Amino acid sequence: MSDSRIDKAITLGSVKKLIFSPSGKVLWIVVGRDNEHWSDPDLGFCTCKDFYFKSLSGGSECYHLKSIRLAAKDSRFVTTEFDDGEYVQMLQAIVDDQSALLCRR
Ligand SMILES: [Zn+2]
Repeated sequence: MSDSRIDKAITLGSVKKLIFSPSGKVLWIVVGRDNEHWSDPDLGFCTCKDFYFKSLSGGSECYHLKSIRLAAKDSRFVTTEFDDGEYVQMLQAIVDDQSALLCRR
């Protein structure tokens, strides 16, 4: 996993921070070619296959987590605000791989 892929993802605005109000809950999303992945840099968790197969078996973190950490450090992410009422719906959509529809409304 090269750093240029991470840099490119950040430059293209692929790292999105979803903020829900009024609770202030946060979801981090990295937009990929085919779908979007929900990653949690605090928990060190990601919904992608790389994370499942590599990170859980002691390998390095997937590029989504690396991208989010770098984007957060440099404040180079896209922020989108939602209502708390949409939180569960958003999580469900991400799990169902349909978040593209919600993120691009
Ligand atoms: Zn990932």
